[in-house]
Amino acid sequence: MIVILKQEARQEQIEKLQHFFTGLGLKIHMSQGESCTIMGLVGDTTQVDEDMITSLDAVEAVRRVQEPYKKANRKFHPTDTVVDVGGVKIGGGNFQIIAGPCSVENEAQIISVAKSVKEAGATLLRGGAFKPRTSPYAFQGLHDEGLRLLLKAKEATGLPIVTEIMDAADLPLFEQVDMIQVGARNMQNFELLKKLGKVNKPILLKRGLANTIQELLMSAEYIMAGGNEQVVLCERGIRTFETATRNTLDLSAIPVLHEKTHLPVIVDPSHATGVSRLVKPMAVAAAACGADGLIIEVHNDPKHALCDGAQSLTPEEFQDVSNRVFAVRKIMA
Ligand code: PEP
Ligand code: MN
Repeated sequence: MIVILKQEARQEQIEKLQHFFTGLGLKIHMSQGESCTIMGLVGDTTQVDEDMITSLDAVEAVRRVQEPYKKANRKFHPTDTVVDVGGVKIGGGNFQIIAGPCSVENEAQIISVAKSVKEAGATLLRGGAFKPRTSPYAFQGLHDEGLRLLLKAKEATGLPIVTEIMDAADLPLFEQVDMIQVGARNMQNFELLKKLGKVNKPILLKRGLANTIQELLMSAEYIMAGGNEQVVLCERGIRTFETATRNTLDLSAIPVLHEKTHLPVIVDPSHATGVSRLVKPMAVAAAACGADGLIIEVHNDPKHALCDGAQSLTPEEFQDVSNRVFAVRKIMA
């Protein structure tokens, strides 16, 4: 970390700062320029509050030269991490499609969707049992009954299951779930992330609605710091001034994340666009720019879905998207 001091910084202010940094166990390299003085901090600066230092009267600017995430950082782990979800591998050249309804609604629905997405090339089944809805009056999911039905669909198809957790207190219910999803709204629920760091199961971490790539990586770091390194990141669109789509899909996050981290990166074109006809072009684009997989909402009867019907594909539409995505993958190979 580099601290650039103001030209008018007084000696006693500089000494106070030096004392503060050495107290944190850091070594300081001072370099006196013509117009300003620069302090180079050497050592573990993860505990230094950059904003606090920047706000000091004597300080002009602070620059981090090293990322604050370590375990998720590709610099310290150059090879791609491959995450195994019930025998299905994601990352390091392994591309998978997770598909299924936004929410588990009943047994016939989840089993029928599971069978059709499997037939169309999906290798993992999604379905929400605990739903983070904007309105407290909207369908909240079937909770433990939803998890039970997902397990039935797994039994019927062999597809490992991916489902969202909202409260760490529900963890005992997730014992047989293959991959636990942390939704966009919980990306910075740090207590939840810490608890998932102690779980021996893959985690699907979705990017928050208004979070930067670095914040996403710091959230992954929370899980990994606890000992659980099986994390898959998911770009699902971010909030911008645009209103034509539900969110704005940040496709550039895929190559940027691949540079910064060894963790697999998948894309959710359903929540990113909110419109079923936009799912196909975005899914194809995501595959073309290097995503390690996709998570797509599919419903047997989208018009009557209890949640996110407008962005859900019919099984036939999903088959078409899947064909196109695999065709793109083939060209790229
Ligand atoms: C979901 O996957 O159903 C979901 C709620 O997604 P997100 O957290 O990305 O909004
Ligand atoms: Mn949804």
